[in-house]
Amino acid sequence: MKALITGGAGFLGSHLAEALLARGDTVYLLDNLSTGSIDNIEHLKGAPRFHYAVDSVMNEPVTAELIDRADVVFHLAAAVGVRLIVESPVNTIETNVHGTEMVLKLANKKKKKVLVASTSEVYGKSDDVPFREDADLVMGATVKGRWSYACSKAIDEFLALAYWKEKKLPVVVFRLFNTVGPRQTGRYGMVIPNLVKQALLGHPLTVFGDGGQSRSFTYVSDVVEVLVKLAEEPRAVGQVFNVGNDREEVTILDLARRVKARTASKSQIVLVPYDQAYEEGFEDMPRRVPDVSRLRALTGWQPKVHLDEILDRVIEYFTSDKARV
Ligand code: UDP
Repeated sequence: MKALITGGAGFLGSHLAEALLARGDTVYLLDNLSTGSIDNIEHLKGAPRFHYAVDSVMNEPVTAELIDRADVVFHLAAAVGVRLIVESPVNTIETNVHGTEMVLKLANKKKKKVLVASTSEVYGKSDDVPFREDADLVMGATVKGRWSYACSKAIDEFLALAYWKEKKLPVVVFRLFNTVGPRQTGRYGMVIPNLVKQALLGHPLTVFGDGGQSRSFTYVSDVVEVLVKLAEEPRAVGQVFNVGNDREEVTILDLARRVKARTASKSQIVLVPYDQAYEEGFEDMPRRVPDVSRLRALTGWQPKVHLDEILDRVIEYFTSDKARV
């Protein structure tokens, strides 16, 4: 395939680019390097069939040209990471809403397939675990900034599905659950790189709240594998899919203990109240587990990499180059 990856210099985008190139696909990558990094794609630069542009999806002529050249668009460009969202809500809403509007509008002109990245955040405060794609979304109040991310992504989903329904633009929406692996930075609040860095530096491991909240983590290569399957599966069009690990739920306190053990760190584990960690009145999700039966029925996908292995690979990523810590 000829794929355009928006946000391609990000953590997930760079792994997707690598996997597509390894299959012999052509990759066009667009990234404004706001949270992505040129270091993530440095090793791809000389590869045949690899093209990249440092620009924003809001640059209409550039995005239009790249969409023309591609036959499928992976739209990953977005403001992500809870810390970033709490700190820069205007940028989050504008990037996520206007960026997706632009990509869908331009893709529609040439009827190019678009896979739109969404997030498990859209389930909001729902406690109807495991989350099914057609379940209700339970948002918090608009005065609580964190929910702007979920709402902006829910609008992206509505818009993508509207393009399919009204204009027959082939779209696929995928909701990512906590995805982890090398190149993910702790800078925007993601828990695993954060804890691993703290452990390696001998700093306290910060567990927010009482640590009883749980998540299920998916390794990036497992996610990449299924995104390619979804791009190639005509029956996926017009649908929403959870993409996440449904087999290994872990509390954040247990996660911190595992990180401490696997890095042989002497760091203490400390509990940090949410108000201090993020902002006054911050609301967290107690549990977040996907129901992936829809995805599994269509693609047969199973996540292969288990949590301990994920942790070891992230630890290896940070220890192999001290500059990353
Ligand atoms: N968290 C934590 N310590 C950290 C960073 C995050 O305890 O240094 C918690 C966070 O409050 C949440 C979970 O870990 O309950 C996962 O956070 P992350 O930002 O990685 O993803 P989220 O699931 O919130 O999107």
